[in-house]
Amino acid sequence: MHEMSLAESMLEIVESTARKHNAQRVTSVQFELGALSHADRDALAFAFDVVTRGSVAEGARFEVIEVPGAAWCMLCSKTVALAKLGEACPECGRYQLAVTQGDAMRIASIEII
Ligand SMILES: [Zn+2]
Repeated sequence: MHEMSLAESMLEIVESTARKHNAQRVTSVQFELGALSHADRDALAFAFDVVTRGSVAEGARFEVIEVPGAAWCMLCSKTVALAKLGEACPECGRYQLAVTQGDAMRIASIEII
């Protein structure tokens, strides 16, 4: 389950941020999850819950902001919506696409006290 290792690296970032700001507790973490990245939001929320146990982020609210997928179609010369990697351009049905959004994930913000 790769969400577990994702959650672990997320916790490392959260913990070092908390240390840097002398935080006592992390109350919430907002996480941007691209629709084209291969992670499941429920599995990720579960993994976050597990790895933060006993840490400064234990019990923190975990919010997932879903970032929709988008790609640049070289044939249409415009940005089109992309629901899944490997899909054709919804406008012209071809595959000359370069993903521009939604293939990444990152921590958007962390709330501490
Ligand atoms: Zn197209």
